[in-house]
Amino acid sequence: MKRSGLIFLEGISGAGKDSYDDWITGYFANLGIQTRFFTEPSVFRHVTEAYKRLPQSERDPEVEAMLFTADRKQQFNTSIKPLIGSSHGVVVMKRSFLSSLAYQAKTDDEVAKIRAMNHFFPDPDLSAVFLCDPQTALSRIQGRDKEVSPDETLKKITMLKGRYEHLATALPDLNIKLISADASFGAVQYQLRSHFNKLMGVPMERAVFLDKDGTLVDNSEYPAIVPTDKIYFDQTVEGLRSLQGAGYKLIIISSQPWVGRGRLSPVQVEDAFKSVAAQYAEKGIIIDAYYYCPHQRPEEGGVDCECKKPKTGLLEQAAERFNIDTSRSYFVGDRSDDILTGRNFGLETCLVTMSKGDISGLGDVKPTYLHRDVNAFARALKKD
Ligand SMILES: [Zn+2]
Repeated sequence: MKRSGLIFLEGISGAGKDSYDDWITGYFANLGIQTRFFTEPSVFRHVTEAYKRLPQSERDPEVEAMLFTADRKQQFNTSIKPLIGSSHGVVVMKRSFLSSLAYQAKTDDEVAKIRAMNHFFPDPDLSAVFLCDPQTALSRIQGRDKEVSPDETLKKITMLKGRYEHLATALPDLNIKLISADASFGAVQYQLRSHFNKLMGVPMERAVFLDKDGTLVDNSEYPAIVPTDKIYFDQTVEGLRSLQGAGYKLIIISSQPWVGRGRLSPVQVEDAFKSVAAQYAEKGIIIDAYYYCPHQRPEEGGVDCECKKPKTGLLEQAAERFNIDTSRSYFVGDRSDDILTGRNFGLETCLVTMSKGDISGLGDVKPTYLHRDVNAFARALKKD
């Protein structure tokens, strides 16, 4: 962390940004660094509240932003300024002016005005913005605020999410990183760790996580033939070789419910993975690891495990073992579950289309890349 030691922590309600305070404190404490948290102060609360009692038609977003700014400036000058850039460690701010930009600025002109008002803030080293699917957010906060209808809340959350996504590209100097808070605590933790490690100059590994069936191997004879180790050589070898050459770990993440269903033994499944790895090894490609979920799907009466895609349990194991930087890694697969798993872990994703896997569960989620096969994905990545 070179400049100010300032981090903004923002997000839509329901994304759970406040759950990570202890983890964040622990992360920096491990490096011998103290963390101080600040939330929006309310020195001028009585003025703000009086203002908010005005009818909507008499309220001016700019005046409202000024009231929030007055509070922040008071807090900045008295509490934060003395800490920043000193040996006091990391300052984490919640509800910084970034939240005003999302909540109050509807046009780029308004964004510029609010930024100008808050000119006394140095640029943060990182703005971690917690986002999740609006419907998920709504289900998490339901009951918290009974006066507003679910429809209105959903509309507001969706709008705010879009606003933050826009700001992330529009304001590069705020170093905005979007954190996917759709899945587990661990999924968020590995994303935060990646961003913090970058600030602290801690080196990490990059990985391409790969689905097996339909992405690396031909599963067109499902379910007559399981497990399968019939590799798509022409569609994958050149690509995997180039990814490995570029320094990516190659890690297979797979679902093998055949074990839970009693159709295959764990040994048979292991043998299939070993065969895939051995066939690639003959082509000079090292598969660094493979992980699979052996459980039956919950809707078939299986357990609700943490390792079944789109949950991120297997990715968490891999990220821990290989010290993976989620912000520079990818998930490649042919089905909704693969893309959602990647999204849940904050990874960029590629949907491979040649095997026509089931993508009906994607909803509004869009893969980052769409390519015919692994080779085409690797070529596109090389060009970027
Ligand atoms: Zn599982």
